[in-house]
Amino acid sequence: MKKEPENFIANIVEEDLTEGYQIGELKFRFPPEPNGYLHIGHAKSIFINFSLGRKYNAPVFLRFDDTNPLREEKEFVLSIEKDINWLGFHWSKETFASDYFQQLYDWAVELIKNGYAYVDSQPSAIMAEQKGSPISPGINSPFRTRTVQENLELFCKMKNGEVLEGSHVLRAKINMAAENMLMRDPVMYRMLKNNHHRTGSTWKIYPMYDWAHGQCDFIEKISHSFATLEFNPHRELYNWFLDKIPGIEGVRKPKQREFPRLNLSHTVLSKRKLAQLIENGVVASWDDPRMPTLSGMRRRGYTPAAIENFIKEIGVTKREGVAEISLLEFFVREDLNKIAPRVMAVLNPVKLVITNYLVEKEEDLQIHSGSDTGVPFLTKKTPFSREIYIEEKDFQENSSGKFYGLAPGREVRLKGGYIIRAEGVVKDSQDKILEVYCTYDPLSRSGSGTPESNRKVKGTLHWVSVKHAVPAEVRLYEHLFTSTSPYTDNDFTTSINPESLRVINAFVEPAVREVQSGEHLQFLRTGYFVVDKESRRDNLIFNRTVSLREGSGY
Ligand code: ATP
Ligand code: MG
Ligand code: MG
Repeated sequence: MKKEPENFIANIVEEDLTEGYQIGELKFRFPPEPNGYLHIGHAKSIFINFSLGRKYNAPVFLRFDDTNPLREEKEFVLSIEKDINWLGFHWSKETFASDYFQQLYDWAVELIKNGYAYVDSQPSAIMAEQKGSPISPGINSPFRTRTVQENLELFCKMKNGEVLEGSHVLRAKINMAAENMLMRDPVMYRMLKNNHHRTGSTWKIYPMYDWAHGQCDFIEKISHSFATLEFNPHRELYNWFLDKIPGIEGVRKPKQREFPRLNLSHTVLSKRKLAQLIENGVVASWDDPRMPTLSGMRRRGYTPAAIENFIKEIGVTKREGVAEISLLEFFVREDLNKIAPRVMAVLNPVKLVITNYLVEKEEDLQIHSGSDTGVPFLTKKTPFSREIYIEEKDFQENSSGKFYGLAPGREVRLKGGYIIRAEGVVKDSQDKILEVYCTYDPLSRSGSGTPESNRKVKGTLHWVSVKHAVPAEVRLYEHLFTSTSPYTDNDFTTSINPESLRVINAFVEPAVREVQSGEHLQFLRTGYFVVDKESRRDNLIFNRTVSLREGSGY
């Protein structure tokens, strides 16, 4: 039996259950900031939290961490909801950190009253200087000794916007000599007069992540709050703030634990960097099929099952690693092989004329799928005629030994059809092949039962009848970055692949005209393709999801 992939986060929960936690206490959350679209890294966090929810039948909240009005938008909220649903997960409740602004404010006032917070009125550069360094202690702000009364009055003025933005912040009074730099009187609130996507202009002060996150976890009774590894040093502060909640003694606190981020080869997983790619026009949008966003992957034709299998396979280990994009593609192929109907499409056409095929005899050919898979062809019948397109690369004028395609004097079988033999070519003045002339063996039709139909030839080619061919735009995608690890590069924009998108005009068999956006297809012998969201019946557009085999394709 296959070994279960490691998941130390799941083990933490298991241990807690043996050490006094009740199953009914378990509650998880996925806390995106609505400042961009979700990427494949987020999928790891989503799977961690939602699979625990599934395993223990425990609630999982979707909490939008919307504490920064400068970057957050409704559009992002909607896209995040859509992407989580697409992955097949459903949250038990949707909440927003902004739901708790009043409670957070009230608790901040408590901290001030108890001497745990003060208003600092220095410029931020000075405060940064006073922080010191990991090897030298910081120095106290001259405002650290402000009276409770003065702090309360100033904090109230900050809240009402009666003082200048940037002139004051509220800081926790902890220890300017703490070894953990985050404990050196961290900022709890800053002033911002921007409109918030939900609370509008109500608030002129906004809580910082550290102040908001643990308190929201507490309010929602989250049992386990899983964050990525860079939040490990924040855990001390997370607990310090929780301890200041009135009445917390004896109550079980939410528990922050950390797991490594997912890194994927050939791409960057950071909303900031992805936003930059859009701003610089490298890609068209968040859902550009080259983007490692969930919406980009959906539009590229990746399936939720493939993503789930990929995330499961890499597991949740303690150390950070890099997953190969080829592993994700492996799971994409595996899933699409099971679900994508086969069709014939010619991407780089060369015209083939079958000189002895008489027009009056035109027929439909029966196409059967191979025996190895249960997925049928999109259509059972494909019109055949005297002129067909085949792939340019399937014909070689001077063929070499390994070549199983068509060449002068050589035979191939047309998929579902006849054995043909190339007789000659017509070229233009540039020596480019315009047409290939062939003859066919009328007795060799596949499945007709004649001895000729059972004759073995080396190659079988896909084809599309010229007269019935439907033109289609095909978008061929490659990795967005030529570097395998652009996320470690000083400037990730230097290794952008100029050939990450190539658009070509192809021909598909007529049944393909009826496909709908989002449908998956296998173009026989070529790869997996999906119908783009911009595709129309009279203007078909296909995105290449992945080639048929690693390293193959156009
Ligand atoms: P980004 O740097 O892309 O903006 P973020 O961590 O700021 O990422 P959030 O919206 O705050 O983005 O993330 C929501 C949740 O997803 C958090 O719990 C975060 O830790 C997790 N997450 C984000 N990126 C990754 C990743 N690459 N691998 C695993 N989990 C991630
Ligand atoms: Mg974050
Ligand atoms: Mg971020």
